[in-house]
Amino acid sequence: MDQKTFNLCNKKRIVVKIGSSSLNYEETGNLNFTKLEHLVRELCNLRNRGMDVCLVSSGAIAVGRQTLGMKERPGDISTKQACAAIGQARLMMIYQKLFSEYNQVAGQILMTKNTMINPVARQNARNTFEELFRLGTIPIVNENDTVSTYEMQFGDNDTLSAIVASLVGADLLILLSDIDGLFTDDPRKNPAAELIEVVEKMDSEIYRMAKASTGSDVGTGGMATKLTAAKIATLSGVDMIIANGKDVCILHHMFEDSFVGTLFKADKKESFRIQDFILETIG
Ligand code: GLU
Repeated sequence: MDQKTFNLCNKKRIVVKIGSSSLNYEETGNLNFTKLEHLVRELCNLRNRGMDVCLVSSGAIAVGRQTLGMKERPGDISTKQACAAIGQARLMMIYQKLFSEYNQVAGQILMTKNTMINPVARQNARNTFEELFRLGTIPIVNENDTVSTYEMQFGDNDTLSAIVASLVGADLLILLSDIDGLFTDDPRKNPAAELIEVVEKMDSEIYRMAKASTGSDVGTGGMATKLTAAKIATLSGVDMIIANGKDVCILHHMFEDSFVGTLFKADKKESFRIQDFILETIG
């Protein structure tokens, strides 16, 4: 897909989401530092182009689990929360270090569903994002896994990143995933499956194509959560791209030449309210 066709280089405010499966080695579940370093460099370059940049990064639970030497992803909520408490702090320490190497400043924003549903909290969060952008810094967002249990959870960072993009009035959301984009069928099972480059409208045919699993044991987002994200983003007036985060250089290809991915075109609905959508669909 050619970036020029969609004027991607004119974007002013972008949210990039990277999942645990893209940040960790599949075999060990440990962090891939080279990948993290490249990601940070790419994001700093987007800042240097003059864009407001926000990163939604998973990895709190995965990093906590590796710090504690756990082999499997924890199942029970209190172990997950303990892992997140340890892992989130460690992840931020690594991000702070890497961003400062490029003379950029990162700030942390942790959110729960209440942040979006409560009007005062929502406005506070919006103000904080605005101020962080005004100061030229890069907000790094995650769910506040240490305190959010079922009734307060977004549950996955695909949805969270679209909520953030909607909240901050971004003009582009990029989901870096372990798949090239949306296919007509599951490409792992059906070699004839074709990549869809552009989705003009989120109709029932698009939902039919969504498959439930990413096939990875470190992240939580499948294609279904990516389509929920696409719905939130497009109705909020935000273009959204799903692309493969295997090589994060894809980020500069997106703004310079051509890349492989699926673009969901913004389809703003004036009556769309993110808080109502969360209450109605996420619970
Ligand atoms: N918030 C979770 C974490 O940081 C990840 C959720 C997700 O990957 O969708 O571990």
